[in-house]
Amino acid sequence: MKKENPFESAKAQLKDAAKTLGYSDDVYEIISHPKQYLEVSIPVKMDNGKWKVFTGYRVHYNDARGPTKGGIRFHPDVDINEVKALAAWMTWKCSLVNIPYGGAKGGIVVDPKKLSKNELEKLSRGYIELMYNFIGPKTDIPAPDVYTNPQIMAWMMDEYSRIHGHTELGMITGKPVEIGGSLGRICATGCGLAYIIENVVKHWKVNPKKMTVAIQGYGNLGHVVAQRLDEMGMKVVAVSDSKGGIHNPKGLKHAKVMEHKEKTGSVINFKGANTISNDDLICMKVDFLVPAALENVITKENVDKVKAKFIVEGANGPITNDANKILEKKGVIVIPDILANAGGVIVSYFEWVQDIQSYFWDVEEVDKRMNIMLTRAFNHMVKTAKEYKVSMRNAAYLIAVKRVVDAMKLRGDI
Ligand code: NAD
Repeated sequence: MKKENPFESAKAQLKDAAKTLGYSDDVYEIISHPKQYLEVSIPVKMDNGKWKVFTGYRVHYNDARGPTKGGIRFHPDVDINEVKALAAWMTWKCSLVNIPYGGAKGGIVVDPKKLSKNELEKLSRGYIELMYNFIGPKTDIPAPDVYTNPQIMAWMMDEYSRIHGHTELGMITGKPVEIGGSLGRICATGCGLAYIIENVVKHWKVNPKKMTVAIQGYGNLGHVVAQRLDEMGMKVVAVSDSKGGIHNPKGLKHAKVMEHKEKTGSVINFKGANTISNDDLICMKVDFLVPAALENVITKENVDKVKAKFIVEGANGPITNDANKILEKKGVIVIPDILANAGGVIVSYFEWVQDIQSYFWDVEEVDKRMNIMLTRAFNHMVKTAKEYKVSMRNAAYLIAVKRVVDAMKLRGDI
């Protein structure tokens, strides 16, 4: 099967928004191109003494609202179209939640599981050595993404600081707290998604105690969501990971499932639950479905079997464009990724602010401010959806794209 070009999907979403906002073809043409990007070749002397060259990318999509922001992905399937799409989505995400950033993304074509710690460090430092003029605390601030973590951010910050001759904490976020990371960053995306569900529950006036939930993915994001929803009294009836899923109509207790996962490495074979496949989970009769693993898991092949009333997108792009149109027709309420998983970038922004001021907040402050920003964006999205009679996703794009275009107009870029 031909892989869908994610940048084409990103442009299709943008085109819908530009049309509703009444923008000319010229405006669409300008905002549908990334501002600039850099490709680098990173030579690494491997542990066996042989040299290997890795390809790295960084895309600055749009910087009209401030320095660009976005993670760095280490994955064998990284390509320039994926990085451009992710950079575009970062632009709309930062704009929607109204933080003063544009959007960017980076990536290295590598399977990091095949590298030793020493090789991974050399690769991370090598990326910065070639990119240091293309990033910086006032221009473009990277962060972790798939298969990158606080240790990699620490090496990158150290390399950038070494080149510049002084420590520059604000050049990257997602760092360990010992060296300028923010409290609350690790669980920010999951906690943020739970705040969004709280808003959904209030707005659509449903009783959380009567709501059932299925969560695909039990990683950094999925397990925090499960924990928070459990605390809210919602019934998480199914969860899964790459090995498969588990289901108990009476509800799964997060603490017990987590204990099992820590012991065995997976949620499967958890006592007191049936085994299900990932596709069973996606098609399960539940009130809330939270895809929190991969992109393109709801497609035109399985969308007719999806029975959830609300889908809250934890992963980036879990629903294809075709499937999304069908869900809209069926009246399923989809809370888009650019809002649902924005807690992570909001706390990254707080990390940058704290680094620049050299003044660090306690975790309650971080959490409270994140909730305020997400709730404000949620209310704005709901109001816009009503005003324009469009879906939540379209409304989120209308707000985000308009803010970027307004900034470009004010700066004289359009
Ligand atoms: P993670 O690697 O910690 O967890 C991913 C989970 O998905 C794991 O449980 C893994 O087993 C599962 N998985 C992998 N392949 C699967 C498959 N084929 N079927 C079902 N499950 C599968 O990653 P994460 O940080 O939890 O991120 C999950 C998603 O959320 C990603 O799409 C990521 O881009 C997005 N996201 C994460 C953050 C964040 O701060 N963690 C922020 C924004 C978006």
